[in-house]
Amino acid sequence: METIKDFHLFNTLSRSKELFVPISPGQVKLYTCGPTVYHYAHIGNLRTYVFEDLLVRALKLAGYSVLHVMNITDVGHLVSDGDDGEDKMEKGARREGKSAWDIAKFYTEAFFSDMDKLNIQRPQIIPKATEHIPEMIAMVEALEKKGFAYRTSDGIYYDTSKFPAYANFAKLDVENLEAGKRVAVGDKRSSTDFALWKFSTAGEQRQMEWNSPWGKGFPGWHIECSAMSMKYLGESFDLHCGGIDHIPVHHTNEIAQSEATTGKRFVNYWMHGEFLTEDAGKMSKSKGDTLTVSHLEKLGYHPMDYRFLLLQAHYRTNLTFHYEGLKAAQSGLNGILQRLREWKNEDEKAAVETPEMAAYRKRFTSAILDDLNSPQALADFFVMLKDAALSGAQRKKLAFEFDQVFGLRLEERAKEELLIPANVQAMALARDAARAAKNWAESDRLRNELLALGFRVDDTPKGTKVSKG
Ligand code: AMP
Ligand code: ZN
Repeated sequence: METIKDFHLFNTLSRSKELFVPISPGQVKLYTCGPTVYHYAHIGNLRTYVFEDLLVRALKLAGYSVLHVMNITDVGHLVSDGDDGEDKMEKGARREGKSAWDIAKFYTEAFFSDMDKLNIQRPQIIPKATEHIPEMIAMVEALEKKGFAYRTSDGIYYDTSKFPAYANFAKLDVENLEAGKRVAVGDKRSSTDFALWKFSTAGEQRQMEWNSPWGKGFPGWHIECSAMSMKYLGESFDLHCGGIDHIPVHHTNEIAQSEATTGKRFVNYWMHGEFLTEDAGKMSKSKGDTLTVSHLEKLGYHPMDYRFLLLQAHYRTNLTFHYEGLKAAQSGLNGILQRLREWKNEDEKAAVETPEMAAYRKRFTSAILDDLNSPQALADFFVMLKDAALSGAQRKKLAFEFDQVFGLRLEERAKEELLIPANVQAMALARDAARAAKNWAESDRLRNELLALGFRVDDTPKGTKVSKG
């Protein structure tokens, strides 16, 4: 077995940096909360997935093998994030005049396409909530048997007063949470109680509903993640992640219901990514006018420009999105590619190993394994690129090695894009996306724009090929 390096990470459970020790030596079991597929993911959502991708790559750098599960929420997430309001899927279906199933399929694929664009590695297991209803029902039955559940007029609820540690994870001040303030109380016993199973409303035809011991209905959003994570990773596993908004409700509820079901510690390490915000405030997928990766591409940015921007901020700091910042990231990344291209005739595979290279490698690894300090790792990377004591081949070798963690596609882009500026490449990609969506007007517009910029445009089986002259 490869030697494992020390990896310190910030655990939300203890609110401190801890040395990571998995349950099985050398193997990490990781669950990340996946998208609710009723709309395109906005670039804020994608910040969380890039952070989780960096985590997976860092775990591999430390020498671990990683079993990664990410769910698809295709039912049960209500617009309020709590227990009332419409199901986001049914809302999406109404908005687009399609079935909830078609909406789920379309936006799941759109999400995968965004993951690919941002070079986010695919988890090994991607379970859909709608395909795990029996597991969720079984868990609600177990909770009922143990006395943690009760029935109201609209569903089966979890009784948070039966779980004394409920407030600990989010350090909630439950006493002062006025009933009805945080979530509507209805005929719940307490404002923190949450739905495990919701009944279909009489006289209202839901598109997604299932029979259960309690009648027709659908699962609560929180039970989905508990049931699916434990099915694939076991009753206790190593790591669970999401955005910080998940701490006070979703993950608090997951812990309460999972630990009440099994009587065991659910997860040992929790990691949460800070938000990406806009100047105007919160970024929201439900507003409908949100920023997507495709939008950035249409403006001439490469998805890697956005990934590079994200890596410049630590995952636990809030990041405000500005186009000036993205532009600076684009030119910074282009500068790196330019440098790598200058060494195109240098063979990195033949680079001689030196103690200086080992020192750079060590610095890089310790930054990344210090709670994913990507800004520090990037700063060291820049110093390395400029270090004339190393040959081009040596610097290229280190750059491509570090990029296994950064995930900026440096090797591929340094080789492919000779003389073709990144914004032109981005336009070619945007044209491929337009063609895939059968948006011929947009595809023609981009073609004409490329021609006007003096590039040749050819259609190949691999997509749009731009070349000089
Ligand atoms: P959803 O599809 O709404 O369930 O959210 C998917 C993921 O995006 C979750 O892990 C959220 O915590 C995360 N998220 C939502 N908004 C933002 C944001 N503005 N910045 C970063 N992550 C976010
Ligand atoms: Zn979840």
